[in-house]
Amino acid sequence: MSEEVISRNFIEQIIDKDLEEGKYEKIITRFPPEPNGYLHIGHAKSILLNYGLAVKYGGQFNLRFDDTNPTKEKEEFVNSIVEDVKWLGADFRNDVLFASNYFDKMYEAAVFLIKKGKAYVCDLSADEIREYRGTLTEPGKNSPYRDRSVEENLALFEAMKNGEFEDGAKVLRAKIDMASPNINMRDPIIYRIARMTHHNTGDKWCIYPMYDFAHPIEDAIEGVTHSICTLEFEDHRPLYDWVVRELEYVHPPKQIEFAKLYLTNVVTGKRYIKKLVDDGIVDGWDDPRLVTLSALRRRGYTPEAIKLFMELSGVSKANSSSDSAMLEYCVREDLKPKADRVMGVIDPVKVIIDNYPEDMTEEFEIENNPDNPDAGTRKVTFSRELYVERDDFMEEPPKKYFRLFPGNEVRFKGAYFIKCVGFEKDDEGNVTVIHCTYDPETRSGSGFEGRKVKGTIHWVDAKTAVDAEVRLYENIVDEEKGKLNEDGSLNLNPNSLVVLPHAKLESNLKDAKAGDTFQFIRNGYFCVDSKDSTPEHPVFNRVVGLKSSYKPQ
Ligand code: ATP
Ligand code: MG
Repeated sequence: MSEEVISRNFIEQIIDKDLEEGKYEKIITRFPPEPNGYLHIGHAKSILLNYGLAVKYGGQFNLRFDDTNPTKEKEEFVNSIVEDVKWLGADFRNDVLFASNYFDKMYEAAVFLIKKGKAYVCDLSADEIREYRGTLTEPGKNSPYRDRSVEENLALFEAMKNGEFEDGAKVLRAKIDMASPNINMRDPIIYRIARMTHHNTGDKWCIYPMYDFAHPIEDAIEGVTHSICTLEFEDHRPLYDWVVRELEYVHPPKQIEFAKLYLTNVVTGKRYIKKLVDDGIVDGWDDPRLVTLSALRRRGYTPEAIKLFMELSGVSKANSSSDSAMLEYCVREDLKPKADRVMGVIDPVKVIIDNYPEDMTEEFEIENNPDNPDAGTRKVTFSRELYVERDDFMEEPPKKYFRLFPGNEVRFKGAYFIKCVGFEKDDEGNVTVIHCTYDPETRSGSGFEGRKVKGTIHWVDAKTAVDAEVRLYENIVDEEKGKLNEDGSLNLNPNSLVVLPHAKLESNLKDAKAGDTFQFIRNGYFCVDSKDSTPEHPVFNRVVGLKSSYKPQ
């Protein structure tokens, strides 16, 4: 880990100190999403961090929608976010909070500031406000409206609320310091006029509070003690502190920043994900190639895997990217003992065992999971016609190829030694049938020790096979070229989705339900798709392959 990575407990250290000094009694944290998109893996970091702290300190975790900006908010997003937070296991007592329910209190808070001489109504246009604000190197200038009397400000602010002015004609500003080196402190706007219908409050309000004013009030109303946000808000902290101080809260909340989670070669930002959805490049917000939580769930990721990933990636004060191979490692680790190992041939070619009786079927008992003895065993059928992977046969094998080729003998997992004796091809040169023979003496479990074979391959009985569609995924962006082109567009990977429509699965999978996950031996972990899979047409998503490029420390 790099030098900048502060102990994952740097937030815990702050909390410990606050508790020691008696600043707070009960720790309350919150996750405050804006309902303007689906949650992604980065949000999971914030959720699990905030929830984890609440659990650790025997406190409380709130889910609060930051829905003070009525332009982009949608019911669909609210519902998906609630579902995702529940899925991750962060308990918010089923108490969904909305910042918009505090609009009255925010209005009162603004009036309180006006009465203290700490806020004023300003008539400057947006352009003028920008001009007066100054730059990073030059101080700003006071607005000519800055010294309005308290009475005048109260009357004007009420008139703003009552809809007496056009959108944008006036704003309410905090009276702080136009010469502050921190531009956020140069009399920031705290209320604006905007006639927009709000998803919760309808047309009740035509003035809406700005984020930097609303957020600390929301936290204070809920008794939040530690308001954890990402680094881009660091420069806003003096304003956060100003708001809670001037509003004279007895136990003011404290803002703490940490670095956002980014993943190598993965599109995490809501803006980019939205663009992929809007441009129709992916099949909705839950397309399994995305890292929204609904996409990860659909693909077969588990909350436990995501938790493990957050533990391994830690909490830091410095921006960096976590290795996406580590996320894959985590889901593999989680599924290893949980997912039964079954046989699924994803790109099949037929095998005929020439010396096996046509009307015979045998059953073999196979262990469900060598990593989990409690998983028991199951039976698989074997008969004359079977399927194996197309790439488990080669007409002219290179050196060290130990699978099927004319004259070679391999073990069919859990069944017999099978020898390749010939093959058929179609007019285009594709292999259509592989002819083999079996040796009855080599039956699995018989203790046969006559000779050894080098390769073991998986197979599926053609008589009882379940037909399925299998979908394989890669990163949606091209790993070699990097995430973005020079013009800012995404470098798409043409192989991000590969559909194998004719997979053959062992018959035990015929009743698999949406969300069920299995290891297909040698092929990876697969989960039944929750959107497109039906009993007549099962669809399996590959969660992750078996090979790892990630080495745990
Ligand atoms: P995006 O960066 O994808 O646009 P956002 O910050 O606009 O997300 P919000 O709904 O405002 O999304 O975020 C809710 C909470 O999640 C905030 O506290 C925010 O700091 C946190 N959050 C967002 N993205 C990440 C991330 N990549 N890593 C950690 N926390 C994040
Ligand atoms: Mg945001």
